Amino acid sequence: MIENKIKQTVRDIPNFPKPGIVFKDITPILKDATLCNEITRSLAGQLAHLEIDVVAGIESRGFLFGLALAQILNVPFVPIRKAGKLPYKTVQQSYSLEYGTATLEIHEDAFLPQQNVLIHDDLLATGGTVVAASELVHKLRAKVIGYSFLIHLGFLNGQQRLTKFSPNIFSLAGY
Ligand code: AMP
Repeated sequence: MIENKIKQTVRDIPNFPKPGIVFKDITPILKDATLCNEITRSLAGQLAHLEIDVVAGIESRGFLFGLALAQILNVPFVPIRKAGKLPYKTVQQSYSLEYGTATLEIHEDAFLPQQNVLIHDDLLATGGTVVAASELVHKLRAKVIGYSFLIHLGFLNGQQRLTKFSPNIFSLAGY
């Protein structure tokens, strides 16, 4: 089962990047080409019933499988990046972190109005990052059709913050 394979392969790093956080390191997954293929196919399979026009991946680990997923779905890929990285005209959204704030940006021509956007990231924790990404989708007058993650940390209840944007929340492995 894909969930077990992911859990067996992900590396837990206690107290990174700060005390009390158990970081889910996906780099061992990236070294396993067969597993990467299986993950991309499984993500696409979960989403097969949705009418996805664009996949938006969140910097930086959301780019890894986000582009692969867009390719398999045969739709465009759009990067959502941290502030100051995108070269063309951007739209911004700030959000709260445990200490301070962060800002995400997207190119202003990323989507056409009313397009159905699937937001992808490697991991759902508190949901703050993907909520900010969802606000960006709305600022460009597109729609959030769903969310896809490799991993979700269910005990942080991030899913609850996403349902107001879309009920379609998928993940391959849950903790
Ligand atoms: P959040 O906004 O709290 O849902 O955090 C999600 C973002 O932070 C994603 O881009 C994840 O890659 C990263 N992240 C948060 N917690 C972890 C964790 N325990 N292990 C790996 N990445 C994490």
